[in-house]
Amino acid sequence: MNSANHPPVVLVIAGNDPSGGAGICADTQAITALGAHPAPVLSSLTVQDTANAHAVEAMAANFVGAQARAVLADLPVAAIKLGLLGTAEIGREVAALLAEHPEIPVVTDPVLVAAGGAELAEKELIGTYLDELLPRTTVLTPNALEIRSLAPNAENTEARVAALLERGCRYVLAKGGDEDTPDVRNSLYSPEGLAGRYDSERLPGEYHGSGCTLASAIAAGLAKGLTPELAVGEAQAFTFNALRRGWKPGSKPGAQFIPFRYVLDD
Ligand code: PLP
Repeated sequence: MNSANHPPVVLVIAGNDPSGGAGICADTQAITALGAHPAPVLSSLTVQDTANAHAVEAMAANFVGAQARAVLADLPVAAIKLGLLGTAEIGREVAALLAEHPEIPVVTDPVLVAAGGAELAEKELIGTYLDELLPRTTVLTPNALEIRSLAPNAENTEARVAALLERGCRYVLAKGGDEDTPDVRNSLYSPEGLAGRYDSERLPGEYHGSGCTLASAIAAGLAKGLTPELAVGEAQAFTFNALRRGWKPGSKPGAQFIPFRYVLDD
């Protein structure tokens, strides 16, 4: 029995980053820190350090579906977070299982490329996002590269966001971390227009796992019953703190900072 005293469950479908900076480890840390219970379903394995990814191997799509359906048939899943899916076949499998649970809010981080630049997903997955996953997405969290890949014909952020909202997702959080601006500007849009602006200081250094942290924190908020606007606000604050306290455990050239997701605040 679910009870108000139990943490809400977030089903996460994502890849493993063995450095623990990004991927499903980042997701489970952020969700746990925000008081929800992560149910981790692996879509893929990567060979990766804190500088870059070196190889990615996708699971069989039906095995991804089987992992998720086992959880959905048993636990009271209150939100779903999609991280790296990797292949169009896995994307279609995930879309099919989302269709079986239309009432559960979904946060989609359309992961295509590792923070170090390595490609993590096949190109065909872009069409699956547009046609099958966006219509079931509550909050989409594209970074600068992802939003251009998903809306290649649009000329500016507003037009890109409009193209994605037309596909049926309820909110787009356009992330500005990789844009050429002095501060970091993340903007939340709904079909009614701008729903929130989250400006933060641009911290020095490169970060690995910031997108996973933010999207999972939003999913935790939705699972706790927050509105998308409040969930994004809480997630922004959590992620900024995690980045501000970020640390650099790697020793390789190009090693990046990873967010510190172990405490809520100072
Ligand atoms: N998921 C996996 C498995 C990854 O390896 C990565 C990046 O390396 C990501 C997601 C995206 O990471 P970020 O949060 O830095 O965008």
